[in-house]
Amino acid sequence: MPVPEPRTASATPVLEARAVTKRFPLHGPGQHGKEVHALEETSLALHEGRITALVGESGSGKSTLARLLALAHPPTDGEIRLDGAAVQQARTARGRRAYHRQVQMVFQDPFSSLSPVHRVRYILGRPLQLHGHASGRAQLDAQIAQLLERVNLTPADQYIDKFPHELSGGQRQRVAIARALAARPKVLLGDEPVSMLDVSIRLDILNLLNRLRDDEGLAILYITHDIASARYFADEIKVLYAGQLVESGPGDAVVERPLHPYTRLLLESAPDPDRGGLLDEPDVVDDAETLGEPPSLVDPPTGCRFHPRCPLARPVCATAFPARTHVEGGQWVHCWSYDEEHYA
Ligand code: ADP
Ligand code: MG
Repeated sequence: MPVPEPRTASATPVLEARAVTKRFPLHGPGQHGKEVHALEETSLALHEGRITALVGESGSGKSTLARLLALAHPPTDGEIRLDGAAVQQARTARGRRAYHRQVQMVFQDPFSSLSPVHRVRYILGRPLQLHGHASGRAQLDAQIAQLLERVNLTPADQYIDKFPHELSGGQRQRVAIARALAARPKVLLGDEPVSMLDVSIRLDILNLLNRLRDDEGLAILYITHDIASARYFADEIKVLYAGQLVESGPGDAVVERPLHPYTRLLLESAPDPDRGGLLDEPDVVDDAETLGEPPSLVDPPTGCRFHPRCPLARPVCATAFPARTHVEGGQWVHCWSYDEEHYA
């Protein structure tokens, strides 16, 4: 019997951002010529059967990266690659649809992401038809039922004729995930998919994503401001600060041996799962108090953007962004202090 290909990080990524930079020009009064420097030369690769977590506080550029990967914005520089080939910005509805047959998004707010005037049957049936996966009432109903079962909304006939307002937040998010799955994508981009849900049901949704990775081999981007939820199931964690990736590595390594002072601060301010705090309200800890304020990205700090808040900052930090230092096990960090400690 042939041995299946191992799902290793060395295989061609399903979806990849290569050195993408994003600037948003501002248009308001007195803002002429100014730009938001939202993302700097950021690279990220998503692989079949793996969950990559992108972690950072609000305003760090997480959603911007997700939108670039979803072709909602063109990058200012760099490229998006699907199955190893550079993606052209799809200009036609047909081109976009072909892309979104492979790459789907799940958003933070299950209340606004589902149309309130349609029943679940339509919400799931429409993408099935649009992507040519089903036609005819009987086939459509069978596939809708299958989708509902895949997201644990069973028995399906209890949900198929419901309107979103008749469902709980967690059930709506399951419908939103089912709608994404209707396209039969290879990639799910989850932009804070549990942040607005009750603490008690976050784990259920994360378990569902876990299963989609394990059983269906989906490549998943899990975006969160809550590193405690990423440590729970991510194969890889990438830490973004003010548009700069500062650290990356296998989930366990980043959590157990964080190399960047920002990652350490994030972990210190996150609820501790060993004390029963898994997926607690992250807002219990006041980020601003623990970490200080995130910087303006219109006029971002020079060098390493974390330096104004960094307990280890030294003069060089304000003048240049540090090179990447690799450590064993696939972890890396951008930090002048790390270099000095280890290579001085
Ligand atoms: P996050 O998802 O990590 O909270 P975002 O990617 O939403 O961060 O935002 C990163 C920065 O880019 C913020 O300063 C935000 O105000 C800015 N930004 C995002 N989208 C736009 C846009 N369309 N126009 C101008 N600025 C934007
Ligand atoms: Mg966001």
